[in-house]
Amino acid sequence: QSRLDKLVNTIASTMEADVCSIYIRRAGNELELYATKGLDLKAVHKTRLKIGVGLVGEIAELAKPLNLRDAPTHPKFVYRPETGEDPFHSFLGVPIHRGGHVLGVVVVQKREEREYSIEVQEALETIATLLTEVVASGQVIHLDEHVIETEVRPTRPYKQGGVPFADGLAFGHVVLHDAPVAITKVVAEDVDAELGRLSTGIDAMQKQIDALLSASDGSLVGESYDVLETYRMFARDSGWARRMEEAVQNGLTAEAAVRQVQSDTRARMMRQKDSFLRDRLHDLDDLANRLMRHLVGDVSPMDRPDFPEDAIILARNLGPAELLDYDTKRVRGVILEEGAANNHVVIVARALGLPMIGQATEIRDHVNEGDLAVIDGHQGDIHIRPAADVVEFYEDKLAMQKKRKAELEAHRDEPAITQDGHHIKLSMNAGLLVDLPNLDEVGADGIGLFRTELQFMISATMPRLKAQSHFYTQVLDAAGDRPGTFRTLDLGGDKILPYGLTRREDNPAMGLRAIRLALSRPSMLRYQLRALLKAAEGRNLNLMFPMVSEVDEFMEARSLLDSEMERRLKIGKGLPYKIRVGCMLEVPSLVWNIRTLLPHVDFVSVGSNDLMQFFFAADRGNPDLNNYYDFLSPSLLSFLKSIVMECHKRNVSLSLCGEAAGRPLEAMALIGLGFRNISLPPASIGAVKLMAQRLHVGELEKYMAGLFERSDHSVRMELKMFAENQGLPV
Ligand code: PEP
Ligand code: MG
Repeated sequence: QSRLDKLVNTIASTMEADVCSIYIRRAGNELELYATKGLDLKAVHKTRLKIGVGLVGEIAELAKPLNLRDAPTHPKFVYRPETGEDPFHSFLGVPIHRGGHVLGVVVVQKREEREYSIEVQEALETIATLLTEVVASGQVIHLDEHVIETEVRPTRPYKQGGVPFADGLAFGHVVLHDAPVAITKVVAEDVDAELGRLSTGIDAMQKQIDALLSASDGSLVGESYDVLETYRMFARDSGWARRMEEAVQNGLTAEAAVRQVQSDTRARMMRQKDSFLRDRLHDLDDLANRLMRHLVGDVSPMDRPDFPEDAIILARNLGPAELLDYDTKRVRGVILEEGAANNHVVIVARALGLPMIGQATEIRDHVNEGDLAVIDGHQGDIHIRPAADVVEFYEDKLAMQKKRKAELEAHRDEPAITQDGHHIKLSMNAGLLVDLPNLDEVGADGIGLFRTELQFMISATMPRLKAQSHFYTQVLDAAGDRPGTFRTLDLGGDKILPYGLTRREDNPAMGLRAIRLALSRPSMLRYQLRALLKAAEGRNLNLMFPMVSEVDEFMEARSLLDSEMERRLKIGKGLPYKIRVGCMLEVPSLVWNIRTLLPHVDFVSVGSNDLMQFFFAADRGNPDLNNYYDFLSPSLLSFLKSIVMECHKRNVSLSLCGEAAGRPLEAMALIGLGFRNISLPPASIGAVKLMAQRLHVGELEKYMAGLFERSDHSVRMELKMFAENQGLPV
């Protein structure tokens, strides 16, 4: 009680209020006046209001602040004579809540008639956040057991949808990535000692961040440079330190001061219109949590003794390195409250085969650490504490998937030879070292597309020549006798480097990206070609250039390669045993000049993701357009057919490496068009192979001949019918 009394006094004096009162929720849906400065002390523990009754009850019911110029004129105002509150007019009350459940209300009042400013309201909300810790810890106030059980800890099954980021089904127990450090002491007993702790904590945190920054040598899993730079910027921000010191001087412990300044800054940043600033919220939270851990000497989630074998990580957001920090063998899936489908962490999750759901807004409020969770990365469904029938449903689904996987695995080492003897080469798309074991696991014929920019995107600094060539050597080693095709840097657009070079554009997909960027700043491409030549010395090297729109661009890129080869010879170094240089077909303009292009290339690879977006003028990243244009439309199929015919005529080898090739029906259509090499996500190889092995290409070609001239939006139904009649698993 004496601590609470001290608290209301502190709050009243810092906020220059005549009254400060704290009401706590009790059993029976009542709020009890627990402490006050300014009201009659006799009312303490006597005045009780039902939820929904009076101003305080209204705040608790709506879980929203009330800011009133003249409280007694409010229709919900209820006069309680024992409190002696008649002289007070202005009233500001905010809920003390946790996990969406109201635990109490804190109120400040003044004699004069005046609405409180938004800043004062925010400050009181911050105080309420701190009071949450006090109330929920149960150390100062003993909450009624059933209030804690039924109101604070969510216990019922809960379902929420999110955006599917990475496919797959996962069962496991929730681990909160940013589990808030519980603050057990809010009020400083010795201000100087707290100031000392704060300064030691800041010091240790700054040192840790400096060490992180200098340790990141551009290695594959290094933390993003911008994140680290922002950490460093915040960490060294004297304004931040000063605000925390002030909070300590106002009577808070170091931890409480960190939390107060964090939520205060958060509230301000959330109102920012600038999305860049809003995105930095995560950095800010991360930094405050780091500082908090230094203060309380807390351990990382991985070191917690109860870290489960089947963790479902729940985070507001994650960087790729943060995900890789976990022992991924003990992680089954990931839920993000924020995030975007093309974030780097998503690429990493897919490579690791971890289902991931993003944009599960505020799901944290409904989850306890250790809860059972089922996530369906295909549908984007999340079940927390699922009921038995839901578990059963997903267990059946999982068992079916396992069975199917086993069936596919049984065919892993067989080639994809069709019923009429055509050998279809099925290679895989990759981009990270974690992808490489898939080569053997799915029985890929090679790597048809290695997206080299991913290494650059998840590195803290530009990978040096040595790091690049070492990386490419590892890729070639993993491929062994199987061909591997490196796609040179496809940066720009949404593939922003953490260390600059690219800048924001209005229309990034059609901006200064890929080969355009590479040719406008050739040193980076030269550097990469140098690393590739070095890594492939004495071996076969296949490389291709992305997003080429004119033959001349290809020639320019090719001449850079030639000069790098000459350079190597000049300094007495060897060359790859054989080099094949290809061009990606992703921009329709190049298709209209394909006859001029073909004599200069060793192979052509259709990047159907980009080709399709430019063909239909439909942003590939916009989910609202997903159903507008179909890959299996007569127009796109005819367009692809013309590419196949030109390549056949000139005997240039052709492949396709977009995501579409990973769907058996689309892959079937591609084979029907004449494609014999396709590169697809590794997880899809088994299913496509099974389809190909049962396919009769001659029959399909005959069937498809009648489809190109149709006026329909799509010939998907017709192709499906063919597949069904032939018993093809699509
Ligand atoms: C494509 O555009 O189809 C492609 C393979 O390249 P990316 O998806 O990396 O742009
Ligand atoms: Mg592309």
